[in-house]
Amino acid sequence: MKKGGPDGPLLSVGRSLVEESSGERERVRSVPDSAQQFRLAQRGQGSLSLRPMPVFLHDTMSREKRPLLPKPGRETYGMYCCGPTVYGPAHIGNFRTFAVQDVLRRTLEVAGLKVKHVRNITDVDDKTIRGAQAAGQTLGDFTKKWTDKFHADCKALGLLPPHVEPSAVEHIPQQVAMIKALVDRGHAYVAKDGSVYFKVCTCADYGKLNHIDFSKLETQSENSAGEANDADEYERESASDFALWKSRKPEDGANFWPSPWGEGRPGWHIECSAMSLAHLGATFDLHGGGIDLCFPHHENEIAQSECATGVKGFAAHWFHSAHLMVEGEKMSKSKGNLYTLDELVAKGFAPMEVRYTLISGHYRGSLNFTMKGVEDSRSALAKLERGADRLLAAAGFTRAEFAAPVAQEVQTSWGRFAKAWEVLQDDLNIPGCLGQVFTVLAEKDEPSAEQARQDVSGLAKILFALGLELFAAKAEVAVPAEIAALGARRWAAKQSKDFAAADQLRKDLAALGWTMLDRKDGYDLKKS
Ligand SMILES: [Zn+2]
Repeated sequence: MKKGGPDGPLLSVGRSLVEESSGERERVRSVPDSAQQFRLAQRGQGSLSLRPMPVFLHDTMSREKRPLLPKPGRETYGMYCCGPTVYGPAHIGNFRTFAVQDVLRRTLEVAGLKVKHVRNITDVDDKTIRGAQAAGQTLGDFTKKWTDKFHADCKALGLLPPHVEPSAVEHIPQQVAMIKALVDRGHAYVAKDGSVYFKVCTCADYGKLNHIDFSKLETQSENSAGEANDADEYERESASDFALWKSRKPEDGANFWPSPWGEGRPGWHIECSAMSLAHLGATFDLHGGGIDLCFPHHENEIAQSECATGVKGFAAHWFHSAHLMVEGEKMSKSKGNLYTLDELVAKGFAPMEVRYTLISGHYRGSLNFTMKGVEDSRSALAKLERGADRLLAAAGFTRAEFAAPVAQEVQTSWGRFAKAWEVLQDDLNIPGCLGQVFTVLAEKDEPSAEQARQDVSGLAKILFALGLELFAAKAEVAVPAEIAALGARRWAAKQSKDFAAADQLRKDLAALGWTMLDRKDGYDLKKS
């Protein structure tokens, strides 16, 4: 299979790197059902009619809003996103980034583009090796467990699986080949212990993504491109140089691979350069990640890739999403606010409510994640459901027809949601888009059947782009045994008309965070 050929002249090393990559085995995932349904629904109408204008997005490097279109001569829009390090459950900060990337991919698909979404798995680094050893497991078993957990969380949050999900361990030869190209071309050097470092001063435009004139900052350690706390620091010729290959250490255990420089393992930055080359070619359309990856990780990726292949323009567009705060505070281990999806589900929230919260702020602004915010998301989703129900009734459609969008004749229509779509296409303005959706849903006048059919088509497409699934079963929180016992005692007290005891038990339940809702013939326990 030919993958993303070169766009310009390649020097010999670059050419062989690119050609080597084209034989790479891909783990191509099947496109998920929802996307398939969506495409099927589009069929027969032609995607051009769905593409009145391209999606525009802010680019970190040029600092301009630019249209997202495949490179001339290519059909597919290639996007590479830095994936998770699989040593524990991902937290909501990680998921904000992945959810926003998911909305971008879905929006491009609704706009009629054929997207190839590549997101890697980082399954070898200090944390994964340390975690595997602490758990007494092989690195493979340990990272598989957390990769599976990541996939389960993604599915619950409605994230479409990437088309290709390469892992760092499966791409060691490609990383070694790229390091070798960098050494051969004078961009990297081998230290005494067999580690290999990238020589930042050989890359004239290093710093261009972050607009840093690196020649002036070289000695400032906080701006160092090298990884902090690197035990090999003294081996580096300059504080800015960063590790491409780390020589084998006793603490690596059985986790080392052969290389021309001796046994060891790749550095973190090189994996994304090698995997994007293998699956998208020397240049591709868009590279995404959290803002914290912008420096040094993405700067290093550009330097490695462009110096190894000899081709400039590694990624045509850089897409970064801003930080997540929790209850107004920075996320940190010590504050205990690195919430996982499981922790939020245990508090009684549905994953779709968490998703709504994570995408509800503009991706370029930091988002303050609060429990009150997730409750508001619950209300917003209920409001969307009521609005959709009203339109479906007016159009004579069922809920099932809404999920697999609607009749052929209205496929290309946006109805009254044209403005909402326009807003979403403009720098992925999700809050603005949702605002428009609610404005339409709040209109008092009952639409005609024809108007409602157009509206249903528009709303279904918008909700697909946002990845918001309506009418899903609500999360039921398991009632702990002690709470159930208190509830039973209160019910018995009430039945025997011991109202003082019943009242006290209701207060006890409230103190434990549970509300008892009485019905005629029984009661429900709800997490308050
Ligand atoms: Zn990366």
